[in-house]
Amino acid sequence: KQGKVDGNGSRILVFVRLRPMNKKEKEAGSRCSVRVVNRRDVYLTEFANENDYLRLNRVRGRHFTFDAAFPESATQQEVYSTTTSELVEAVLQGRNGSVFCYGATGAGKTYTMLGTVENPGVMVLAIKDVFSKIRQRSCDGNHVVHLSYLEVYNETVRDLLSPGRPLVLREDKQGIVAAGLTQYRAYSTDEVMALLQQGNQNRTTEPTRANETSSRSHAILQVVIEYRVRDAAMNIVNRVGKLSLIDLAGSERALATDQRTLRSLEGANINRSLLALSSCINALVEGKKHIPYRNSKLTQLLKDSLGGTCNTIMIANISPSNLSFGETQNTVHWADRAKEI
Ligand code: ADP
Ligand code: MG
Repeated sequence: KQGKVDGNGSRILVFVRLRPMNKKEKEAGSRCSVRVVNRRDVYLTEFANENDYLRLNRVRGRHFTFDAAFPESATQQEVYSTTTSELVEAVLQGRNGSVFCYGATGAGKTYTMLGTVENPGVMVLAIKDVFSKIRQRSCDGNHVVHLSYLEVYNETVRDLLSPGRPLVLREDKQGIVAAGLTQYRAYSTDEVMALLQQGNQNRTTEPTRANETSSRSHAILQVVIEYRVRDAAMNIVNRVGKLSLIDLAGSERALATDQRTLRSLEGANINRSLLALSSCINALVEGKKHIPYRNSKLTQLLKDSLGGTCNTIMIANISPSNLSFGETQNTVHWADRAKEI
């Protein structure tokens, strides 16, 4: 299997997940423009305009290869095991790492990250795995697990576990912290799904679309695992590993606002975190010394979880429908760029 977390240095692993065609897309007479072949390859087909009689139906096709590609039929457990379970192991050894879901609104990011009660996603499966791995390695209550769940919306940071006033980011000796952020001590998996569902409900919604999470909202779950070990001199030392799981804002806005000459403040702000993340990833991919973390709230919050000795995992979510072809193409191109390490 590809995508092994190796000894030192940072790595970016890139995965693509294709979601099933939904009812609306079927009813609109969608054609399928994405195929997953060989477990690693994604094949994109661009169809000609229906009225374009002079051209062949199928205009262009192109292959892209990733660390793994998940077809419509992939289960949540398969996605978790292939993308994130090795990172959880590294975090339990005191490393940091992050997993991002990237893609257009409706492409399946929240389903992949949070999932449903019946089909829990990466966030819940990761926490479940953390507890089962802790149980396997110790029975002395040595490990302490804390969760925090926050949102970046319009360059404003909010606590999703305890909604209220925006949080201020401060730099202290541990790095950049959101002052006053809830650190929820978790003892088991059972309580976590409800907590995360509730937190997700606290995400910002657009005033015109109550109940529907804003496509501009980034949600970040941080799982901090602390434990004590004896070092070579037999002194007891504290180790901390941190896993960040991020359900990013819809990527379509980053592109849409790019093309606009007049940008609304909101548009520019959503861009700031997504574009800043892209710049950081580009800088990491190119092996640059300077990584521009300071450019946005999202990248400041993730400064200790991106690059360095951290492992970064990208899951690009896409729809199979030709009606979303432009967005799918953008997402796949972005993912293809991110994997060049
Ligand atoms: P996003 O967060 O990217 O905007 P969602 O995760 O909310 O998109 O997905 C849009 C819809 O598609 C939701 O109703 C979700 O349950 C459904 N969906 C997404 N991915 C899958 C999947 N792999 N299998 C089944 N349903 C999915
Ligand atoms: Mg979502």
